[in-house]
Amino acid sequence: MGTLWHPFSDMAAVRDHEFVVDHADGVWVYDEAGRRYLDGCASLWYANVGHGRTEIVEAATTQMAKLEAYSCFADIANRPALELADRLSALAPTGPDTKVFFGSGGADAIDTAVKLARGYWQARGEHQRVHVVSRETGYHGTHGYGTSIVGIPANREGWGVLAGENTVAPQDLEGVEKVFADVGPERIAAFVMEPITGAGGVHIPPPGYVEGVAELCRQHGVLLVIDAVICGFGRLGTWFGVERFGVQPDLVTFAKGVTSGYLPLGGVLVSSQVAEPWWTTPGERQLRHGPTYSGHPTCCAAGLATLDIYERENLIPRGQQLEAALQAALAPLVDHPYVAEVRSGFGLLAAVELTPEVLSSVPDAPNALLRGAREAGVLVRGLGKGVAVSPPLTVEDDEIRLLGEAIRAGLDALP
Ligand code: PLP
Repeated sequence: MGTLWHPFSDMAAVRDHEFVVDHADGVWVYDEAGRRYLDGCASLWYANVGHGRTEIVEAATTQMAKLEAYSCFADIANRPALELADRLSALAPTGPDTKVFFGSGGADAIDTAVKLARGYWQARGEHQRVHVVSRETGYHGTHGYGTSIVGIPANREGWGVLAGENTVAPQDLEGVEKVFADVGPERIAAFVMEPITGAGGVHIPPPGYVEGVAELCRQHGVLLVIDAVICGFGRLGTWFGVERFGVQPDLVTFAKGVTSGYLPLGGVLVSSQVAEPWWTTPGERQLRHGPTYSGHPTCCAAGLATLDIYERENLIPRGQQLEAALQAALAPLVDHPYVAEVRSGFGLLAAVELTPEVLSSVPDAPNALLRGAREAGVLVRGLGKGVAVSPPLTVEDDEIRLLGEAIRAGLDALP
């Protein structure tokens, strides 16, 4: 009789049929029987430096033995949090003197970013700027604000009243312009978007979309929040993904790849302009927001060791260098009669979408495909209409080919 409740899972089906992962090394994951699988999804889009990195384990255990945890509230700090903030600030696409606020993952980073954006406008006296616009198919975690602004209807529905005033905009620029006009741009606090949406199906925006939204935000003084939780740390070949579009956001949320998942950590990069109301005049204003584990020293030590690996092995550009190989491995799957579309070619992430016929005739078809690919030795991630592929940045060409072969085997095995 199972008791572990799995996220985003049909527990009535999953109970007592779990696939138990035992250990992992590099791009390979092993089950309890010792069978190995290629990690085609970097777990949940986060194992960017691969598994079994002893230097991250050592950095975390050394820090844990010295000072496992201590809060960063008020004037208290710890060296790993101070150093990691400085290093991320130096890499940030949000301009000079970027401030860094830490939490425990992507969803609390989103809550923090939206509250900062709204708080900024309150501090500036523009009290009407409370509306948040986000993007269709965008995913921003499952906390209060992430649930409220998510662009995946099934995640937003069924909870009753949600947080704030929000609108999900379509994925074309005209649609965003219309939303701005309908809401009234002077009422919009922030636009939140992933450069490429991940969990919502890996949708690469039309050319000019990200740049156009950034320009629209600039024209109307709306803050641009880039959710780099998936697109960051090399997934698109740059530190925060957004650099590939040449735009400068006001806030950036990050998580996952910052520690490659070795320990839970996330946070927000905040431009000096947005931080200004809280950072200038002593006694004037205090941010009434902060999770217990903000600046957790052991998690930050794991983050520092992870950044060392990205830099030493020059892994960040690989997200772009390998995008053509991933596309070459997956694009031919579009010939398969069960495949509606393959979305790839921008960064080391992709999706294979099933046809409406398969989705309606095969019960839980995405997870059936996932299990078929697993039988063929590759782990992928189930999405609403297919599977996602996002291997570690350390993956090699022959392993990328294996991804395509295993997904084809999974497609062939569908009933
Ligand atoms: N934002 C994006 C783009 C994500 O993909 C995710 C998680 O997948 C989140 C936010 C939420 O992060 P977490 O699950 O760490 O709370």
